Amino acid sequence: DQLTSQEAMDLENKYGAHNYHPLPVVLSRGEGVYVWDVEGKQYYDFLSAYSAVNQGHCHPKIVGAMVNQAQNLTLTSRAFYNDMLGRYEKFATEYFGFDKLLPMNTGAEAVETALKLCRKWAYEVKGINENEAEIIVCKNNFHGRTTTIISFSNDPIARKNFGPYTKGFIKIEYDDLEALETALKSNPNVAGFMAEPIQGEAGVYVPSEGYLTKAKALCEQYNVLFIADEVQTGIARTGKLLAVDHENVKPDVLILGKALSGGAYPVSAVLADDRIMNVIKPGNHGSTFGGNPVAAAVAIAALEVVQDENLADNAEKLGQLFRSELNKYIETSDLINLVRGKGLLNAIVINDDEESDTAWNICLALRDNGLLAKPTHGNIIRFAPPLVMTEEQLLDCVSIIIKTLQQFEV
Ligand code: PMP
Repeated sequence: DQLTSQEAMDLENKYGAHNYHPLPVVLSRGEGVYVWDVEGKQYYDFLSAYSAVNQGHCHPKIVGAMVNQAQNLTLTSRAFYNDMLGRYEKFATEYFGFDKLLPMNTGAEAVETALKLCRKWAYEVKGINENEAEIIVCKNNFHGRTTTIISFSNDPIARKNFGPYTKGFIKIEYDDLEALETALKSNPNVAGFMAEPIQGEAGVYVPSEGYLTKAKALCEQYNVLFIADEVQTGIARTGKLLAVDHENVKPDVLILGKALSGGAYPVSAVLADDRIMNVIKPGNHGSTFGGNPVAAAVAIAALEVVQDENLADNAEKLGQLFRSELNKYIETSDLINLVRGKGLLNAIVINDDEESDTAWNICLALRDNGLLAKPTHGNIIRFAPPLVMTEEQLLDCVSIIIKTLQQFEV
């Protein structure tokens, strides 16, 4: 039985915890850059499940790999070896240029894994006392919502009343090398520095050119690990395979999630070289589902699609076009201040305050006009379509966005 949109929303609202505030639209099908609601209306997806569906909805190669593997073996846990995990680990470590991979399921789990890895490395390699290791993080970060991760979040809604918080984090300004150097200099117990190469949930905040290179150099100078959280920015989203590739920086620890599976299945990973990853011993860390054969098969297929379809180059090309088209509009707009981003991870900033409901209302109008996006703040809307989009489709989306923005110009 097909539910109406209203019936589906009523069910979620009555029986589900209210831990999200979804845009009112109920989707039941997706293909490539499109999704359809239960009444059959078609939309461009301009969120891609927060940059997970980079390869497009229901990519036949990814779905095929998933279905095929699901018919053979879905889960044995890591109590035994399986015949897919090693294949995937070889493929992915060569693909990203690291010695080893630790498989997890969600972004937040992979972040937690990286933090544990960093602390154990500091203990074993640097001789920092347990309970004294510090990890430097940035203001306005988003790394997930576990109890440890919210301990160093700025977002009052994610954090407030969920204490007590985990210790061992030093928070500095993002895109501030002086703050990083001061923190490194004044704290002998620093084990690592974790950052997003572009801050996604902060409203697609792009740091100054050279920031990542210099941050990595400072980490080397002070012998601390540079941990890049590329859960949102990785896998071709910003116009390169990884966002750190824009500056040819190799992080010591790389965190991936979301598009590692093309959104088909929860797959995340932490990658590092032996000198770091070898501190992890049997029993130190794990997860029943992490590294299961379906995840492994899906991730190989998802990474092959990125390569076969040149998604990084397409994201770079379409991103340039998107920003240049919107910049033309902004020249005469009283509503929009700027468009910023890299590749196909972009945001527009509205001439209004953070608490306003303008971005939300624009997203409702975009929905009515056939395009789905979501605000990061009351005055910021993120635009992150699947990377399999064509130029023609992108220009169609630009005209929908501009037509919608015009409705809000005063
Ligand atoms: N890190 C970053 C940079 C993210 O953007 C996100 C999700 N938006 C996460 C971690 C958390 O991922 P997940 O929701 O899969 O736990």
